[in-house]
Amino acid sequence: MVPFRQFLLKIHSRCNLACDYCYMYEGADQSWRDRPRRMELATVRRTARRIAEHAAAQGLDEVSVVLHGGEPLLVGAAHLDGLLAELAGAGPRVRFSLQTNGLRLLDEPALLDVLHRYRVGVAVSLDGTRADHDRHRRLPTGAGSWQRTAAAVRLLGSDRHRELFAGLLCVVDLAADPVATYEALLEFAPPRLDLLLPHATWQEQPAGVRRSLPLAPPPGTDPAPYGQWLTAAFDRWYDAPYRETGVRLFEELSVLLLGGRAASEAVGLAPVDLVVVEADGTIEQADSLKVAYHGAAGTGLDVWRHGFAEAAAHPAFRARQRGLDGLGPECVACPLVRVCGGGLYAHRYAGDGFAHPSVYCADMDRLIRHIARRLRAGVAELAGVGQRR
Ligand code: SF4
Repeated sequence: MVPFRQFLLKIHSRCNLACDYCYMYEGADQSWRDRPRRMELATVRRTARRIAEHAAAQGLDEVSVVLHGGEPLLVGAAHLDGLLAELAGAGPRVRFSLQTNGLRLLDEPALLDVLHRYRVGVAVSLDGTRADHDRHRRLPTGAGSWQRTAAAVRLLGSDRHRELFAGLLCVVDLAADPVATYEALLEFAPPRLDLLLPHATWQEQPAGVRRSLPLAPPPGTDPAPYGQWLTAAFDRWYDAPYRETGVRLFEELSVLLLGGRAASEAVGLAPVDLVVVEADGTIEQADSLKVAYHGAAGTGLDVWRHGFAEAAAHPAFRARQRGLDGLGPECVACPLVRVCGGGLYAHRYAGDGFAHPSVYCADMDRLIRHIARRLRAGVAELAGVGQRR
């Protein structure tokens, strides 16, 4: 059993935006409707105790707690303070992070004091240029949210709060120009970028593609528009005269191509070490599964009755810790499998389960081969320099 090291807590199950691609409210799973709005302190306390028990049993000195939602900052400063105190005081050292749309940082400055107190790294969702962001990320009134999000990111990037700023999360949109998107994000000087493929499955296909199983023609002959988009962004990032920022997907694929290990569940074959606790204490798998079908992330477990060791032993988690053995036949036979890893688990879903390639298979193929070519050329150039000396 691989112990959990990352605990994602859904501390608020509603949102103050109405993004059209949101997997939580617009996806197949609608379980948020039955959840309490926020995670109460008794639930946090119980979760903290379960985390401490798990860390002690597994000999973990440090764990990571990701505060998530809905919009997690809707809990307000006082409740956030209370729940962070519970989690920080439970036992192991805790590295806190939070994913937000940023808007509440403008409305309730006391939130920033609390985030500083517990050294919470804050990542903000921002989809590039104003026009591209506002196409999808809207206020409940229907107006775009870029202006307020940008103001929140500037606040976070100011000298006073910079240490909290963990990075930006951007969902790839084929209607957006990849270089313009990258450069628009760069204007906020983020320490790191996450370029995220929109959550999709073989049944709910990504915008702009129509693919079928079994794979035919092979991935390399597909136009792979998401792969092309990411390739253009990669080149802009890789060819910069200095390292402007980190891009998690590109860095992890490069590390994997060079024989290392990736830390995210989107690529590579490392076993999953992340578990989700919903606002009512229910233990679930990664949120992205909610795009597959209603209840796909469920385990039937909760922190009131079960410890995390029981969750780790659950067949759903075991299936995602089997590395190569957990993949479908196309991926097992694929020459890129140790780098791609079959893509994100949720993206493999095809109605009869997850033993399939990612619906982004052709895109991953295109991107990985491109990065490999660029790295190979870079290494050959370095070798030439070495020989000339
Ligand atoms: S999803 Fe990835 S590992 Fe699987 S066949 Fe496609 S490129 Fe290969």
